[in-house]
Amino acid sequence: MLKIDNLHARVEGKDILKGLSLEVKPGEVHAIMGPNGAGKSTLGNVLSGREGYEVTEGSVLFEGRNLLELEPEERAAAGVFLAFQYPVEIPGVNNTYFLRAAFNAQRKARGEAELDSMQFLKLVREKLKIMQLSPDLLNRAVNEGFSGGEKKRNEIFQMALLEPKLAILDETDSGLDIDALKQVAEGVNALRSPERSFIVVTHYQRLLDYIVPDFVHVLAGGRIVESGDSSLALKLEEHGYAWVAEHGEPAG
Ligand code: ADP
Ligand code: MG
Ligand code: MG
Repeated sequence: MLKIDNLHARVEGKDILKGLSLEVKPGEVHAIMGPNGAGKSTLGNVLSGREGYEVTEGSVLFEGRNLLELEPEERAAAGVFLAFQYPVEIPGVNNTYFLRAAFNAQRKARGEAELDSMQFLKLVREKLKIMQLSPDLLNRAVNEGFSGGEKKRNEIFQMALLEPKLAILDETDSGLDIDALKQVAEGVNALRSPERSFIVVTHYQRLLDYIVPDFVHVLAGGRIVESGDSSLALKLEEHGYAWVAEHGEPAG
């Protein structure tokens, strides 16, 4: 589904990703861990086509297509979803309106008919079974005054609506208490399927108790330096990232 080969990327003239390779097959959940500043968010931003992130070398294929030459909207239409580490607040824009605009933009880009507000509300009710949001959160301005947990749940809800093939979750656990973390993890788990893949970026092992990944990778210095199964996250929790630097064999 996703094949990243020798990816190099630069932000503000600074080389951040330095030869990152990763392959994700349908239905797989890959966790990416690593120290602060390793380039985890940069990877998500490069994959979603965010402005200011320049790819200088390497390739990214998504279902056989060159992802890097697609516009961000085209990537979303192709089925790539990125949940940001810091969800933006959009004062004055009603959340349901925003969700419908995002949903319809994707439909339009795929050449599908847009949903009117009645049809969309029906879909919203259906998707609320996956990720509960209070009606209050649907009617307020996007993320405005939402707690950390509410913002993350709102993003998972958005993901449930958009039904991506590949979802990239960037530190979806940051700032969440244990109950909110479990709710968010349950929402993600409800969306796991043999066709849908996830890249879950996280600092801490805790989230991976609830979203159990098929693979864990350590990103350090702009490359994947260690890969393993879910037990690798436990080793990292115990020994810290310095352990990888000492004992990990740089991959690729
Ligand atoms: P992580 O998510 O692993 O903590 P990031 O990908 O956010 O790391 O950042 C990697 C490095 O790139 C850091 O040194 C950070 O300061 C730098 N960086 C990321 N985004 C930008 C940006 N928009 N402008 C300048 N530097 C950036
Ligand atoms: Mg960080
Ligand atoms: Mg980050």
